[in-house]
Amino acid sequence: MNTFKNKRSFFLALITFVISVCSLHAQTKPTVYVLATGGTIAGKGASATGSSYHSGEVTVDDLISAVPSLSDIANIKAEQVTNIGSQDMNDQVWLKLSKRVNELLNQNDVNAIVITHGTDTQEETAYFLNLTVKSNKPVILVGSMRPSTAIGADGPRNIYNAVACAADPAAAGKGVMVVMDDRILGADDLTKTNTISVSTFQNPNYGPLGYMYNGKPIFTRTSLKRHTINSEFDIHNLSSLPRVEIVLSYSNATSLFVDAAVEAGAQGIISAGVDNGNLTTALENALNNAVQKGIAVIRSSRIMTGPTTQWDEIDDDKQGFSASWFNNPYRSRVLLMLALTKTKDYKEIQRMFTEY
Ligand code: GLU
Repeated sequence: MNTFKNKRSFFLALITFVISVCSLHAQTKPTVYVLATGGTIAGKGASATGSSYHSGEVTVDDLISAVPSLSDIANIKAEQVTNIGSQDMNDQVWLKLSKRVNELLNQNDVNAIVITHGTDTQEETAYFLNLTVKSNKPVILVGSMRPSTAIGADGPRNIYNAVACAADPAAAGKGVMVVMDDRILGADDLTKTNTISVSTFQNPNYGPLGYMYNGKPIFTRTSLKRHTINSEFDIHNLSSLPRVEIVLSYSNATSLFVDAAVEAGAQGIISAGVDNGNLTTALENALNNAVQKGIAVIRSSRIMTGPTTQWDEIDDDKQGFSASWFNNPYRSRVLLMLALTKTKDYKEIQRMFTEY
């Protein structure tokens, strides 16, 4: 009888011990929110080998349940912010997403955010958040190039790596990042370089922030640009953003699209010029006309790498233009939209383009 009692007490004690170790582990694991917006990562194809599919069809709960090992590294909470192909990404979703990220990261019980996103405009959303999230906690965007139903779908591995990176203390204070194809990329220099390859995203000027290896981040650089808690931009009271258009340069380019942007009420124009932001005479004159009407003009370039510098073939001070330096036309557009919430002065805008 005594032996039976002892055995029973032993097993009770053992069960209590196992339960408390498990709950301690759950408490010590970081809490990572996965905010889903759509894209190929949430896409379904008609076959495992074909390339046709519809993006934004799989819910965030399905995405997470495709990677059961996520619960080993973090307490996962999920929210569906929207479910669209990112070609339809827009200012309203940006504002909603940035406000929600800030709200969540203000909570003591939230450690990091992972955002699932289509790859088409991922670089623009990443940069918008890089400049408007007011927290040092990790914010990581992730996508995939293959739909969830394809052979060799890259989504589950990318989600695992994104959560593993977000859950790691080393990821704090690095600015907004994209984790895909085992690489950690900074929003400060993010460009999609290939329409079909899983290693499409690059940091072509500065190089990647690091790599994911065996579920751990290895960082190899930090961003020297202002971002997150060091950004001067604040969207929490905004319900819309200034309209900024991009005008492309090519041989024989006329004033047509600059004039149309001015007519449509744009507050800013990004010129995707040739080489170091050069322009046909017709475009240069049209952009100067726009400046005379109070529209901010940024000279950027259609070339993927290298800066668009001040004081080269175009006299920016004479024309009232600002140069984009290392920001390509897409990041320049995001930065100018935010800059215009504070100033219209081209010299002040130029300062921002050298600091961000
Ligand atoms: N066009 C879709 C999007 O950006 C799919 C592209 C992708 O996610 O790779 O959401």
